[in-house]
Amino acid sequence: MSFHDKVVVVTGAGSGMGRAMVQEFVAQGARVAALDINEVSAVATVKALENPDQGLPVHVDVSSVESVDSAMSEIAEWGGGVHVLCNNAGIVDSFRPAHEIPLEEWHRTIAVDLTGPFLMARAVIPGMLERGEGVIVNTASISSFSAAGGGSAYTAAKHGVLGLTRQLSFDYGRRGIRVNAICPGATATGLTMPEGGSDFLPDTEAELGRIPAQRWCTPEEIAKLAVYLAGDDAGYIHGAAMVIDGGWLAAARNPI
Ligand code: ADP
Repeated sequence: MSFHDKVVVVTGAGSGMGRAMVQEFVAQGARVAALDINEVSAVATVKALENPDQGLPVHVDVSSVESVDSAMSEIAEWGGGVHVLCNNAGIVDSFRPAHEIPLEEWHRTIAVDLTGPFLMARAVIPGMLERGEGVIVNTASISSFSAAGGGSAYTAAKHGVLGLTRQLSFDYGRRGIRVNAICPGATATGLTMPEGGSDFLPDTEAELGRIPAQRWCTPEEIAKLAVYLAGDDAGYIHGAAMVIDGGWLAAARNPI
């Protein structure tokens, strides 16, 4: 119960990795604010907890300053100061080559995937500085290192998340705030496997053949890494990009 009475904020908490993070932190004794643009799914995440009193579903659009501010006020009223922020909300673009991506799609993807983590961090950092401690865990991707896991907007945003992670670490590490990124590979979530199948990862068998682990990652495995990074055992880990991809990047030249 290493997070007993700590307040954790998870964005994108309505499904996939975010929902699993809420469950794992609650299992460690935390009180968790489950933020999502889809309020119904955030409520479902909290309702599914063994003790729903440990969770607070909150509507947020992470790309909107006003929405982030109002979510933060709700959280402050419910739980006080935030100890851990997991920036996990995200969208993928349409995997089209750059010249076919409408500008609005570029802007929306950058706004949610990159500006969102910045706005959320900006909102929690003053309180963390006051207490002299805090942890931020950003969900990046293997698309933070390589192409083809999305279109140019997604790949650029995820590269940006690593830059943001490192800069925040540089700016705040010495003031008690640890900031790290998780870089998942093929993880079975709503984002990669929407209901009705995915139209951008059609060849799952071929994908699997390239991954030394020979399987997709589960949201729970990602969530356990987030809990580890947020905990005291990870006290010396600052500004890191923790790859959890079953060896995919390492074996990038494996023939399909
Ligand atoms: P993953 O598990 O890989 O994070 P999902 O698609 O399962 O992928 O989850 C992403 C979550 O982020 C979804 O629940 C989605 O509703 C949420 N989300 C998407 N856009 C926003 C946004 N602008 N603000 C907050 N949450 C968002």
